[in-house]
Amino acid sequence: MPNKNIFCNVPRYQGHVYWDGTFGYCCVIHTADGHGYNVKSNTAKEWLQSHELKEFKQKLLGDEKLSPCDLCYREEDQGFISKRQNENLKSAIWPSEFDRSFNESYTRDKFLNIDPSTYKEWHLDSGNECNLACKMCNPYASSKIETMYKKWGMPTADTSKTLWMNHPNAKNFVKEICDNEQLKRVHIMGGEPLIQPNFKNILKQVSESRPDISFSFVSNSTKYDSDIARYLEKFASVDIELSLETVDSVNDYILEIKEYLDKNGIRNEIDIRNEKIGYKIREHSNNAIPIIIVIGNQEKENKTVAVRYLGSKNQEVLELEQFVANVSSKCLAPDMV
Ligand code: SF4
Repeated sequence: MPNKNIFCNVPRYQGHVYWDGTFGYCCVIHTADGHGYNVKSNTAKEWLQSHELKEFKQKLLGDEKLSPCDLCYREEDQGFISKRQNENLKSAIWPSEFDRSFNESYTRDKFLNIDPSTYKEWHLDSGNECNLACKMCNPYASSKIETMYKKWGMPTADTSKTLWMNHPNAKNFVKEICDNEQLKRVHIMGGEPLIQPNFKNILKQVSESRPDISFSFVSNSTKYDSDIARYLEKFASVDIELSLETVDSVNDYILEIKEYLDKNGIRNEIDIRNEKIGYKIREHSNNAIPIIIVIGNQEKENKTVAVRYLGSKNQEVLELEQFVANVSSKCLAPDMV
């Protein structure tokens, strides 16, 4: 009988790929642990049959705590339900009735077997690149927070922007996992997956070959468009883990403005962090951002934007179209003025 404090079903049915393409045991473990197995040069089958994965599964049937799983143990020590316990519960294995529920679980034999099977789920990491810095987020999921942590000298995520999604082998890997008839779900983690140019290609590929499965992803919904909606509607079910920070009536107006600026070719970034407005203006001014527009309830009601230019303490309130016309004329090449 496995140990109720150690056993975890995750690496038995869930495949994980880190942002750089390394195969891993699960999404809780932030350090890439695929022992050199990577979607850029290996197949998913090679990872499943690897000695390293089998050994890890074997250890999860033993009595010794595993160092990669520290986060789960710490959460449990503090009285929280860990990912390990949560996922075991999905197989009807209860911490309080572990022995009985494990033995009666319909997947018991599969869990005791460490030989390669196929994964029913794949969790694919799209890196931490994100266009927002929401208050509940962290450097592993937001490049903006990572930048702030680095500026403040705080320990932070060590992520490169070389994503597996952008590698030529990504297409073969996605084909391989879709060819597996046992597949039930593909989940894309981030960052904000929708800002990755290859997200749409992968979504299209999965939706065309496996409309029978469930597709899920995390998102702040600022980049959702009709192509994405068209691909998503093909799936049997779709789950979007939405950042609620973007669901606010002023934020709706901010996103409308962003879309308008994007359409007019004006490079822009939005900052909806839960900080005082004066703090944000000071920070962006110190970073020499040439134009800051401030949007609150009043601007939303009047359909205007409050604009500040670098080096000036004054702000002017303009209608959006007027602001865009002003910025466009300021950006003309000298011989076009
Ligand atoms: S015990 Fe926790 S960290 Fe370890 S594989 Fe399971 S879910 Fe992941």
